[in-house]
Amino acid sequence: MAGTNVPGGQSSIDIARDTYRSISLYAPNRAPAAIDLSDNTNLWGVPPAAARAIHKAASVTVTRYPALYAADVKSAIADYIGVSPDMVVTGCGSDDVLDSAIRAFGEPGDRVVYPDPSFAMIPIFAQMNGLTGVAVPLTAAYDADPDAFIGADAKITYLCTPNNPTGASFSRAAIDRIVREVHGIVIIDEAYAEFASHDCLDLVDGSPHVLVSRTLSKAFGLAGLRIGYAIGHPELVAEVEKSRGPYKVNGVAQMAAVAALTEDRGWVMDRIHEAIANRDRLTGTLRAMGLEPLPSDANFVLVPVPDAMAADRGMRERGIAVRPFTSLPRIGDALRISVGPWEMLEQCITALGEVLEAMA
Ligand code: PMP
Repeated sequence: MAGTNVPGGQSSIDIARDTYRSISLYAPNRAPAAIDLSDNTNLWGVPPAAARAIHKAASVTVTRYPALYAADVKSAIADYIGVSPDMVVTGCGSDDVLDSAIRAFGEPGDRVVYPDPSFAMIPIFAQMNGLTGVAVPLTAAYDADPDAFIGADAKITYLCTPNNPTGASFSRAAIDRIVREVHGIVIIDEAYAEFASHDCLDLVDGSPHVLVSRTLSKAFGLAGLRIGYAIGHPELVAEVEKSRGPYKVNGVAQMAAVAALTEDRGWVMDRIHEAIANRDRLTGTLRAMGLEPLPSDANFVLVPVPDAMAADRGMRERGIAVRPFTSLPRIGDALRISVGPWEMLEQCITALGEVLEAMA
């Protein structure tokens, strides 16, 4: 489509940044489905104190600007994680925190190295900020490959553990070596840490160049309110906060986040335990069906299938949304299934059996 004319006779396409021309909008299939297992959110619902806070907040806070840098949310996160508030930066989802961190530490032209496959937004954030993305393949065990990360000699190293979409955590040995040997900042994305057997938070103590990002979108059930955060050395966090700018977490979200983090931890922990049990049961059931799901440390399971787009269509015809991936390095086509209450997973398993049989 031709660009809109702007004063001076140019079209808006002509005046767009060169590095922006090839950026496309993030467009996963968001069509409604009876059971939506496509985005790894909390399928048990909103934590109860957060739900009450949302109702209350709507009537009192929206005419005024919220706290600039969400100080109360930082304190609640600091208490939840066990660090001081000056080690916390928040954002409009961890998307915003990751984007801000890349912008804060990477000059245009610098490199960002990330695993492949991993979180699809990272190469886009790199490009949006004028940086060059360098994708490095996972090892055969779905681990990060330290030699490849160190060899990339990037200003920003992005790791994701448990990794999306594989679900596997990276080994501590690989992460430790990368943190020890790369130059520049290491961002460790732990969006799914609550479901994992181990995490990397201890690394922020001894390593002033490590930032661990997390979110309230997954285990805490608040994806629609967009609240993410990162933990790191106070000087590192201060730079991300500059790049993020003020007012990024809205007032309703701030109240709900504080309620969830202070009053709902027990509710959230119970759902996490159920998700872990259901994840392992789902993995076992898929194996019993003759499939080869990847071992997961997150609240989703990636299962290779012959033709992900056809399988996804068949699942949607049966009212189930999952996330299809095509031609993943080392894996090929696969479906990513979010873990929720067992009744939902049972329907997903039945539909998947029918779909794969029809495709055989
Ligand atoms: N990191 C990873 C690995 C993710 O999977 C996601 C969400 N899909 C995010 C970050 C961003 O989550 P949010 O912006 O909702 O915090």
